[in-house]
Amino acid sequence: MKLSELKTKYDVVIVGSGVAGLYAALNFPADVRILMLSKQERHCSNSSLAQGGVACVLSFENDSYDLHIQDTMIAGRYANDPEAVEQLVHEGPNDVRKTMEYGVDYDRDENGNLIKTLEGGHSRRRIVHHKDTSGKELVDKLVLAVEKLPNVTLADNTLVTTMSRVKNGFRLELLQDGDFRFVFCDYCLLATGGIGRVYKYTTNPSVATGDGIRLAYEMGASIKNISYIQFHPTAFNGPNREQFLISEAVRGEGAYLLNGNKERFMDRYDERLELAPRDVVSRSIILESRRLGNNNFYLDIRYKGEEYLKKRFPGIYAGCLEQGVNIAEDLIPVFPCHHYLMGGIEVDLNARTTLPRLYAAGECSCTGVHGKNRLASNSLLEALVYGRKAAEDITRCLRADYPALTDFTEPETDRTGAPLPKGIRTEIREIMQRSYFVIPDEGAIHQGKKRLEAILNRLRNGKFAITTDYCEARSLATVAYLILREVDK
Ligand SMILES: Cc1cc2nc3c(=O)[nH]c(=O)nc-3n(C[C@H](O)[C@H](O)[C@H](O)COP(=O)(O)OP(=O)(O)OC[C@H]3O[C@@H](n4cnc5c(N)ncnc54)[C@H](O)[C@@H]3O)c2cc1C
Repeated sequence: MKLSELKTKYDVVIVGSGVAGLYAALNFPADVRILMLSKQERHCSNSSLAQGGVACVLSFENDSYDLHIQDTMIAGRYANDPEAVEQLVHEGPNDVRKTMEYGVDYDRDENGNLIKTLEGGHSRRRIVHHKDTSGKELVDKLVLAVEKLPNVTLADNTLVTTMSRVKNGFRLELLQDGDFRFVFCDYCLLATGGIGRVYKYTTNPSVATGDGIRLAYEMGASIKNISYIQFHPTAFNGPNREQFLISEAVRGEGAYLLNGNKERFMDRYDERLELAPRDVVSRSIILESRRLGNNNFYLDIRYKGEEYLKKRFPGIYAGCLEQGVNIAEDLIPVFPCHHYLMGGIEVDLNARTTLPRLYAAGECSCTGVHGKNRLASNSLLEALVYGRKAAEDITRCLRADYPALTDFTEPETDRTGAPLPKGIRTEIREIMQRSYFVIPDEGAIHQGKKRLEAILNRLRNGKFAITTDYCEARSLATVAYLILREVDK
């Protein structure tokens, strides 16, 4: 929808149309007027790229909530919030069942039973999936359901540039095709996803610049554990900056991880071998690369045969083929890269941030469920549970008749200025890749933080034209600075 067609005021603005934002929208009653924003096309998000699936306990024959909790805590190195984990594991299965009501088609066997896969750190097969394109399936079906809701207005290619608190609500400045306008709301849910673009190599798409974290931080919300970053051990080792992920489910289904000598090596580092949690496998690869003096690593799943691989991993099969690798005949070159953020905007069990009326859900938030390292496939589950929690809590507040926003003041704004200087985004990425990759470089952290602080001050205080490029650079500088500030001793 065009900016000129939007209303001035909504009850709720949801920033983001990934799984957290979409599922939140579906959990509001029909009389709550919602604006949902996506900075690119509504399907473009981390959510759409998810391959492995959603982890949850849907039957108790061979699994239990306690086991899922235990696996989550072990992966998170017990830095998780136990209450948040319990809520996730106990309430999540119902949300996953509800996604089936919206048409999400998880894979089933010939008898109609759900097929569950295994990923690193899980002691049981409990991940439901749609081939290896689970995120796309979820987003496609949830988007269709949201599009049918008369109370939700969707605006694509609409970037929130800044946000301010006004009495009883928020004012958001929107940018679409070079045009600006303000909208107002009583409540706001930030569901803006990840921060991958602060790194040189990441699995995240171009929308992942940490905007929501910057917006919340600039308004004074608490940001927590932002240095808890997950590096995926097995991204395709190719020339692109956006690295194509070789899902952990490939190891779950039996792939071997090989070093440059084409030997399995995980037994040198962890008894769980290829299925140790992600941080352990990533670290082992880096240590092994130092031991052997090269960055050549491979996954070997050839023995499963072409027919099985094409059916079980069609996306990965096709993606690798595009890079000239037939996974039924060739080894897949892999190396760790940035993948996921465990920390972010601090929220409680109802997705409330530390600011009144501001909520956050999904990857931009820090619920505490992941601790220091996310258990595979727990993040889509978190996006579902906390998206719903936000919707329920905001609805409770709206029903309790909290005073509505009445201040529609629009500030005088000069948005002209110099273009963003070339090279700033590249410099941020290089600082992060050098100082805070899988094994942090203590020596580079302090210098990096100081340089990022200078970049951030320049972006904040200089007179730059307000463009998408400028806003994203400001988000990247903010997030990168906050990460290094947290770990600089
Ligand atoms: C390659 C890959 C594979 C993955 N596989 C799995 C998996 O198998 N299982 C699992 O559980 N998790 C997986 N994950 C992680 C999971 O997909 C994400 O953590 C989760 O989907 C995040 O959802 P979200 O709704 O929080 O954010 P996203 O899905 O990233 O959505 C963010 C939204 O915010 C919007 N936005 C951002 N900034 C602005 C702004 N300034 N103005 C307007 N809109 C804005 C974007 O346009 C987008 O619509 C994977 C991630 C990747 C990248």
